[in-house]
Amino acid sequence: MKLVFLGPPGAGKGTLAVKITGLLNAPHISTGNIFREAISSASPLGLKVKSIIDAGKLVDDSTTIGLIRERLAREDVKDSYILDGFPRTITQAEALAAFSSVDRVINFDVPDSVVIERLSGRLVCRKCGFNWHKTFNPPGKDGVCGKCGGEIYTREDDKAEAVKKRLDVYREQTAPLIEYYRNKGLLTNIDARPNVDLIVENVKKLLQP
Ligand code: AMP
Repeated sequence: MKLVFLGPPGAGKGTLAVKITGLLNAPHISTGNIFREAISSASPLGLKVKSIIDAGKLVDDSTTIGLIRERLAREDVKDSYILDGFPRTITQAEALAAFSSVDRVINFDVPDSVVIERLSGRLVCRKCGFNWHKTFNPPGKDGVCGKCGGEIYTREDDKAEAVKKRLDVYREQTAPLIEYYRNKGLLTNIDARPNVDLIVENVKKLLQP
């Protein structure tokens, strides 16, 4: 099944995709992860996008569409994938429709107050990428990752100014995709306020044949 995960930053799309990818045997493709890997390896793409991402703005459509077009041309995603963080604009959604046919779009619905609470407390492991939270799921002793011992850090774009910008960008450019996919009959809303395991159960129920 070819799935798109939609929702504001902090809805938990990435965490949920990591849990669901194995269940569906559908590769998880996150444009945010692709960009962050490019930044940590200081590749030309990474150098180009770093300041944009740190400021909470969107990378330009043609760069982002090019990346996804290339990724979706590979054999492992011929029948199934989970797109997490793409599309984020109507232009991206139209481009995607021209080279792949999405089966279903799940919109993870969550109010701004929860987004701010989640993002402002998020801590990420530099080594394994696991998302922790200062209050709800602290990483372990001495500021190292409780899973792999890696260094814990706060994403530059989880700092207050960038979070505000990301929410504005979401409202202006990404939220219109809800209507876009609803009109195509592809959209289902899921309440993303409960804990992750409960949301995973709800997604599983939804995707049962
Ligand atoms: P994420 O991890 O999905 O929150 O993405 C982190 C950042 O990467 C976003 O705030 C954007 O700066 C950039 N990004 C990720 N996906 C896209 C996209 N589809 N279009 C433009 N920029 C993106």
